[in-house]
Amino acid sequence: MKEEELSASEDKPPSQVPLGEPSVLTLPIGQVRPMFPQEQWYNWQWQMANRLRSHEDLISLLRLSPLQAESYKSLIKTFHYSITPYYLSLINWHDPKDPIRMQCVPDPKEMNYAVVGNADPLEEEKDMQVPGLVHRYPDRVLALVTGMCAMYCRHCTRKRIWNEGEWMRTRKELAVMVSYIRKTRKVREVIISGGDPLLMNLDTLDWFLGELRRIHHVEVLRIGTRVPVVLPMRITEELTTMLKQHRPLWINTQFNHYREITLESTAACDRIQSAGIPISNQSVLLKDVNDSTETMIALCHALQRIMVRPYYLYQCDPVAGAEHFRTNVFKGIQIIEEMRGHTGGLCIPSFVVDAPGGGGKIPLQPFYLLSIGEQEIMLRNYEGLMIRYFNPKENEPPRASSRSRRNRKTESVVYCDNSRQIRRHKKCIVDISHPGKDILPLDYAE
Ligand code: SF4
Repeated sequence: MKEEELSASEDKPPSQVPLGEPSVLTLPIGQVRPMFPQEQWYNWQWQMANRLRSHEDLISLLRLSPLQAESYKSLIKTFHYSITPYYLSLINWHDPKDPIRMQCVPDPKEMNYAVVGNADPLEEEKDMQVPGLVHRYPDRVLALVTGMCAMYCRHCTRKRIWNEGEWMRTRKELAVMVSYIRKTRKVREVIISGGDPLLMNLDTLDWFLGELRRIHHVEVLRIGTRVPVVLPMRITEELTTMLKQHRPLWINTQFNHYREITLESTAACDRIQSAGIPISNQSVLLKDVNDSTETMIALCHALQRIMVRPYYLYQCDPVAGAEHFRTNVFKGIQIIEEMRGHTGGLCIPSFVVDAPGGGGKIPLQPFYLLSIGEQEIMLRNYEGLMIRYFNPKENEPPRASSRSRRNRKTESVVYCDNSRQIRRHKKCIVDISHPGKDILPLDYAE
């Protein structure tokens, strides 16, 4: 459905609700938040109505010269933009590489890379069974229910749908998806995404979730949304009360930097969790935004504090217009390597590459399994210690069961090639493939 059709629709987006409030651009940059009364600032419809979206907004925001203004005109025509006053208020304008700014403010590099990569790198369109419904994995489907977002992330994998304007599917269109899911009995999970499903008309979303919930073989619903990050005031009690009715429901969101975890976004997550809905986080690894171990640890620690599970760290997809955000794949592996052992496992996401051409998610890990023998494997721990580990045969009682409690406790550390570490671990050098002959001579270890 195109933008002009929206006015006649039940799904009229909140961005078109005429609140008649002043533009944020009448205010000095960096002083957006304090200038508005709280009842406006915390009203999500006010935030939507006052998003920065136009060429004129951008000229004022970036103080563009006429020449620069011209290049930005074609840029936002190709890849449109919108920024909520809330998300805008998080930018540190003294830093040209501010991680918040890089995610939301259009950058001429997008045009430089407009022909690099692919408009639809994951080939979602190819796997659409009915309009908007991607069925790739056997037991789950992805429903793209809207093309509208509160803020358009400059690295978005679905930039291709932006030039269709801001649209939402009608009940009639959603009913076609429901009908496909109803007759496809192997589907046990429906992932609802877009665009941002939490911007849909509440009655329509309630109806859609209810229809899905009524399908016997659909066990779980999942919603992908960035609203808690870029428009946390949208998480109202009315919304969470409605969502609560459709559990088991999971929410996946996308915090990419620890500075996005504010009082507002924390409160939004708390409202969702208080409705009994768990939240997982799917960060995207973005050059100069979060591609350092320190930033990723700070983000994941902050997520753990607000009880949001760091679930995935995605390699940025090769999407047209976003090449400047892409890091070398080894950067992601290195970050995970440097996190492992230095922070708890609950804080470490899985690093995944979403394979081009519809190949699906492929997890990439540092190398911890060094060799595989019939009875033992060689492992490496986070400090570089090499560890020989007895590998029980299938269907045989594990050898460890006949060993003493002392042996079981010390079964893992074997030897390494670092003399300082060997000294530190000397006391627990154990040959686990020969229980009863515990302590290895040091020369063997060396
Ligand atoms: S919120 Fe999601 S769909 Fe919307 S622009 Fe950002 S990444 Fe893309």
